[in-house]
Amino acid sequence: TIVVTGATGHLGRLAVESLLARGVAPATIVAGGRSVEKLADLAERGVRTARIDYTDAASLTAAFDGADAVLLVSGSEVGQRVEQHRNAIDAAVAAGVGRIVYTSAPKATTSPLVLAPEHKATEDLLQASGLPVTILRNGWYTENYVGTVTDAGPSGVIAASVGDGRVSSASRADYAEAAAVVLTTDGHEGVVYELSGDVAWSFAELAEAASEVLGTPVTFRSLSPEEHLAALAAAGLDEGTAGFVVALDGNIRDGLLAETSGDLARLIGRPTTPLVDGLRTAIV
Ligand code: NDP
Repeated sequence: TIVVTGATGHLGRLAVESLLARGVAPATIVAGGRSVEKLADLAERGVRTARIDYTDAASLTAAFDGADAVLLVSGSEVGQRVEQHRNAIDAAVAAGVGRIVYTSAPKATTSPLVLAPEHKATEDLLQASGLPVTILRNGWYTENYVGTVTDAGPSGVIAASVGDGRVSSASRADYAEAAAVVLTTDGHEGVVYELSGDVAWSFAELAEAASEVLGTPVTFRSLSPEEHLAALAAAGLDEGTAGFVVALDGNIRDGLLAETSGDLARLIGRPTTPLVDGLRTAIV
């Protein structure tokens, strides 16, 4: 069987859909999540479901029992993820799973990206686990910009402190398909993939894409980090969140999310979804 954790979330669900689309028998897929109710529609289609909570070792061991492969989708509770992922990896070892595939972040072991440390720690645990491991270092999702683009409808402006920084985003469905390819084909053990969109776009180009999708003019306003912090505070964001957003924009300015290795397109055997198409699909 193939176990997909985080299947109640966007990426995990899309990974299950990609497995099904690739002809994997539903009864050989285990979709895992904290709330199995959210997986009822998949269960109706014959997919097995399991309660998986990264803080509950017993749930992990039970779900991983007999698995040929596990897709460990990184958790969403920033700050708690190393312990959570450790639980999952320990359970995978205890259950003797055939291999484990993990969704990481660009250049996780060396990048100053603010989100990298938990991914680096997880990658280190995986490499020490003795399990056959594949690391999918997922770049940015195009869907991360849905809110930005939607908000630009009324304001006509996308404001950010990214400078000339570029982002090589791809659609979640592209990353999910890559995970399904890795889970269903051989030759990925011990491989680290740097996954990203084929094109690294600037925020001026994001504004152009927003104009196209919304059908109304949108321009990019380049802010200094100080101006950005002040604008976010004025919009009611707490200091911690505002600081995080500005730090991420600094990471983009520094080019940390602009890799275009081509790994993703090669894995899925087609170009990644262009920015404007990804936004159009996500903004309904
Ligand atoms: P979602 O928030 O949609 O899904 C996260 C999934 O992780 C959910 O299924 C959630 O379960 C599950 N999860 C979180 N905590 C636990 C836990 N303690 N035990 C079990 N399951 C847990 O995120 P996406 O699907 O969009 O993205 C997948 C992951 O990718 C994120 O979790 C994050 O690590 C990372 N990410 C990457 C981004 C990028 O641009 N590359 C952007 C944002 C996130 P539940 O439904 O119960 O909450």
